[in-house]
Amino acid sequence: MTEHEQFAEDLALYALGSLEGDAADSVERHLEECAACRQELARLEGDMALLALTTSGPAPPQRARQRLLKAMGREPRSVRTVFMRRRWWTLAPVFASLVLAIFSILLWREVVRQRDRIEAMRADAAVNQASLEEAKHLLALLTDASAQHVTLVAAKSKPQPAGKAIYMPGNGALVFMASNLAPLAPSKTYELWLVPMGGNKPMPAGMFKPDPQGNAMVMMPPMTAGVEARTFAVTIEPEGGSATPTMPMVLVGS
Ligand SMILES: [Zn+2]
Repeated sequence: MTEHEQFAEDLALYALGSLEGDAADSVERHLEECAACRQELARLEGDMALLALTTSGPAPPQRARQRLLKAMGREPRSVRTVFMRRRWWTLAPVFASLVLAIFSILLWREVVRQRDRIEAMRADAAVNQASLEEAKHLLALLTDASAQHVTLVAAKSKPQPAGKAIYMPGNGALVFMASNLAPLAPSKTYELWLVPMGGNKPMPAGMFKPDPQGNAMVMMPPMTAGVEARTFAVTIEPEGGSATPTMPMVLVGS
C-alpha cells in the first residue's frame, strides 16, 4: 500500500473530525502537498454537509450516501489501525459520528417515505375536491331560482303533475322532485309519504312547497335506515303536516 492510499482511507475519519494527534498531523502534512487528497476531503465534507441538510431536498443525495457508506465500509481496517496507535476512549467520537451519520440516513429515508405519503394524500384530496366541485355545480343548477325548468311530455298532450322520489334504503337518504303541481292554498303544504314494504301504515317523509311554476326539488330529512319502500305518495296537508295522510292522494308511485 502506498502512502497515498493509506491517507485516502484516513480521510474519511479526518472528515468526520475523528482523527487526532500524530495521525491527524501526518494527514494534514500530506494534504498540503497532495491536491488529489485535498479534493477527496472536500468531497467527503461536502457529502456530510449534504446529508445533514437534505433531509427534505427535492432529490435524494444518492451520490453522497453511497460514498459515505463506502467510506464507512472501510471503517474496520481504519479503526484497527487507529486502535494500535491509541487508547480505546479516543475512538468515542468516531463511533458517535458514525451513529450520527447512520441516523441521518435513516431519518432521510423516513422523510422521503413521509413525503411520498403526503403526495399520495394530496392526489386523493385533489380528486375529492373535483368531485365536490361537480356536485356543487349540479346542486347550484338544480336549486337556482333563475334556472329554467321545462317538463317535456308527448306532443299535443297537457303537462300533468309528476313527481320523482330517489330513495336509498341503506342510509335513509331521500330526494324528491316534482313538476306541474297545482298552487297551494295559504296555510297548506304538500307532504310526502313512504309506505314501507310489508306494512300499510304510511310514514311521513317530509313536507315541501313548489315554486310559482309548480316545481319542487327537495332533500328530505333522512328516514330511519334500512326501511325498504313499497310506495311513495303525496297529499295536501295543513301547515305543519299530519300524522296520517289526508285523502285524496295528489301523486302516487310504487
Ligand atoms: Zn494523496
